[in-house]
Amino acid sequence: MNAIRLYHKLESGDFVQCLICAHKCKIKNGMTGVCKTIANIDGVLYTINYGILVAKSVDPVEKKPLFHFMPGTDSYSIASPGCNFRCLGCQNADISQTYRDENFESYLEYFNGLQKTPPEDVVENALKANCKSISYTYTDPAVFFDYSLDVMEIAHKKGLKNIFVTNGYYTEESINAAKGLLDAANVDIKFFNDTSYRRICGGRLEPVLESVKLFHKNGVHLELTTLLIDEYNNNDEEIKKIADFIVSVDKNLPWHISRFFPLYKMQDGRVTEEETIINAYNIGKSAGLSYIYAGNIRLNGYEDTSCPSCGKLLIKRQGYNIMENNVIKATGEVGEGKCKFCGYKIYGVF
Ligand code: SF4
Repeated sequence: MNAIRLYHKLESGDFVQCLICAHKCKIKNGMTGVCKTIANIDGVLYTINYGILVAKSVDPVEKKPLFHFMPGTDSYSIASPGCNFRCLGCQNADISQTYRDENFESYLEYFNGLQKTPPEDVVENALKANCKSISYTYTDPAVFFDYSLDVMEIAHKKGLKNIFVTNGYYTEESINAAKGLLDAANVDIKFFNDTSYRRICGGRLEPVLESVKLFHKNGVHLELTTLLIDEYNNNDEEIKKIADFIVSVDKNLPWHISRFFPLYKMQDGRVTEEETIINAYNIGKSAGLSYIYAGNIRLNGYEDTSCPSCGKLLIKRQGYNIMENNVIKATGEVGEGKCKFCGYKIYGVF
């Protein structure tokens, strides 16, 4: 158990406020915040899952999904248990939601008994596996934020990049704390509707939009993901609002439109139709987005990158595999890319 970096004591007696995520929980002595992984113990906030990893795997960076960030490389992917959202269709509920219903004493005891992985070991393992980056993923990195920062510092010293795969529910304080350490992020824009965010995820829309803007301002390589769910966000108006928002930040941010499969508490939902994905793709293109990709589905050509200027095929993908890559490095060993055919600058790190 380690004390966290971002909190402040409130004047009203026993309460301390966590500043990691946009819930900004005010936590009473002996209690935890919404995520159940940050606890107030005698006026100090502790991260009670520090170093406990429920996932350690080597994934293609395309699986995050990041299509414009060092394509074709592997990312060492870790997660600690818990989440600050409670998405009803969560695809990792076994590691993100299982601790939610336990009482504090029992899971504190449980966490205390588990093996901890020191931050140096994560970096060591990533290097041994020939990965070029470390991804903080599967659950939201907000629930292992301090551990992530510790790993990220060491990773940078060893030449590895850092990636967040996240719901984007952060505060200005936490995004700025990660500035200079976080290289890339895939952020979910799940809906463009505050009511859906509250009902399905237990969050709000506005902080997510603010996080996207601030990550971008801080120079983090960004890609966005929207899981299309028939009952909730499969309508042209909402899809267009998401696309318009991304264009307003930067039309070159890649947008991944993902197919929904019924999971967790949304077992009665419908698998997203191919036509729905294609329709969203077309709406995004009309809105002016340069790069749109279909996810969780095989749709020939919809995973490929074409040059926004000359229209030639730049990256041909099959699932997570790169079959052809015509993006050449524009600067340095790892830097911006450009089209091999016309020299147009391609957003990303290549
Ligand atoms: S990380 Fe978020 S949910 Fe957890 S205690 Fe802090 S503010 Fe609350």
